[in-house]
Amino acid sequence: MPAAANLVEDLRRALGAEGVRAEPLDQRLFSKDAGVTRGEVVAVTFPRNAVQVSQVVLIAARHGYPIVARGAGTGLAGGAVPSQPAVLIVTTRMDDVVVDEANRTAWVGPGVINLDLSRRTASLGLHFAPDPSSQAACTLGGNVACNSGGPHCLAEGSTVNHVLAVEFVDARGQILTVGGTAPDPAGLDVRSVVVGSEGTLGVVTRILVKLTPNPPAVKTMLLAFSKVSDAAATVSEVIASGIVPAALEMMDQPMVRAVENFVHADLPVAAAAVLLAEVNGHVAAVDAEADVIISVGRRHGATEVRLAADERERLLMWKARKSAFGAIAQIAPDYYLHDTVIPRNRLVEALEEIYAIARRKDLLVMNVIHAGDGNLHPQLVFDGSVPGQLEIVKSAAVEIVEMSIRLGGTLSGEHGIGLEKRDLMSLVFSAVDLDAQARLREAFDQDHRFNPGTVLPAGSRCFDFGRSVAEGAWV
Ligand SMILES: Cc1cc2nc3c(=O)[nH]c(=O)nc-3n(C[C@H](O)[C@H](O)[C@H](O)COP(=O)(O)OP(=O)(O)OC[C@H]3O[C@@H](n4cnc5c(N)ncnc54)[C@H](O)[C@@H]3O)c2cc1C
Repeated sequence: MPAAANLVEDLRRALGAEGVRAEPLDQRLFSKDAGVTRGEVVAVTFPRNAVQVSQVVLIAARHGYPIVARGAGTGLAGGAVPSQPAVLIVTTRMDDVVVDEANRTAWVGPGVINLDLSRRTASLGLHFAPDPSSQAACTLGGNVACNSGGPHCLAEGSTVNHVLAVEFVDARGQILTVGGTAPDPAGLDVRSVVVGSEGTLGVVTRILVKLTPNPPAVKTMLLAFSKVSDAAATVSEVIASGIVPAALEMMDQPMVRAVENFVHADLPVAAAAVLLAEVNGHVAAVDAEADVIISVGRRHGATEVRLAADERERLLMWKARKSAFGAIAQIAPDYYLHDTVIPRNRLVEALEEIYAIARRKDLLVMNVIHAGDGNLHPQLVFDGSVPGQLEIVKSAAVEIVEMSIRLGGTLSGEHGIGLEKRDLMSLVFSAVDLDAQARLREAFDQDHRFNPGTVLPAGSRCFDFGRSVAEGAWV
């Protein structure tokens, strides 16, 4: 779509020519995230600070375009994909980091890449604990917007537990800060409302994060099983034993085989399921906890137990786990990665149902699971150029969500709702729940200027419904 000339001129006056792109190639490149939905972009902006973000918000409003914030575009739910022609605010140039070593905190720009923050604080013995598998690419702004998790969030908690304050630009172009340096700031906890709001309340421009000391000792182990149910029973018993491992991840056989072909980590490819467990903390505790996990695994028939002998082997094990999505590229050009949660003790049933759904739809499915907290990631592998294939994949995905909810779980563990799960929200929220969320959103952004059409389905608010029937009328 050709960008409105006046809009682009106004944006360039505010940001400079190099801060705005609006050629068809740019519009196409930024019209998608790592999910499967594409939207329509009018102009792509690259502000350097909160004042420039505020200017873009006001200019877009004057020209009647909504705003969609975007970090690295690694989101898997279509959160950064415009549901209608929009101006994009890409935060990648907002990458300042100011560390307060004494207080173990840092003010960071939203465009800072997750892993870069931990690299920059490594010499201080500190790191940022939430570690999405996409951490080499995704931004902290995206992590805040999605309240992202990662393998080590089992023990450490997800992003919201590591954010003390958030600065953001609201729909009126105002720069606000919510939260603060105190562990329990006074007033309403608006910070935890902004974290996880998927860009619907404003554009995050600075984040005060907690930095976590690197543990003095760590042990990482890999356990192989000839039955998925043995691996699942091990997970349940480890958690029931009172140990909270730093991470407890699971991959099924198709996933292990794909990863092994990709990273050559000498993974046990004959196993039906592999667990990757990590414990960290003080040396004595780590040794004792590792012993418990290994003996629980053996009791449940582990066919192989491998303890990482050194940091090189530990990193290789993690490389294998964190390459799980990249490994798919050798098998098919596309994948649809799902993210649902089930109660941990229903893992075997859930996997059996996922395999049955895939068989029924003649699809290849591979599973990587944050097993410690019951967060499933079935990946449906396909070729989107085959007519009708994407529709089949999407229908399988809906069945997986419905099954997860039926087993007592929910529709998203960490990737968010975005556009892709928006219409499934009513499976877990009543009309009253959705209305409350819509009212909260409108308290910040009455006219839905930010990420319109994402997260909440149409009609969540009687106001939406009324407006589509008769402007302003309550229906
Ligand atoms: C290979 C792979 C592995 C992944 N592994 C994990 C994982 O282990 N755990 C996990 O939780 N996720 C994972 N993800 C999903 C994704 O990486 C995370 O959701 C991540 O936080 C998105 O960051 P991003 O910078 O790419 O955000 P984007 O995709 O650009 O945006 C995501 C959402 O955040 C909003 N947003 C971005 N920046 C801002 C801002 N400054 N202000 C307001 N809103 C903003 C967008 O509007 C959108 O709604 C994975 C994705 C891939 C491709």
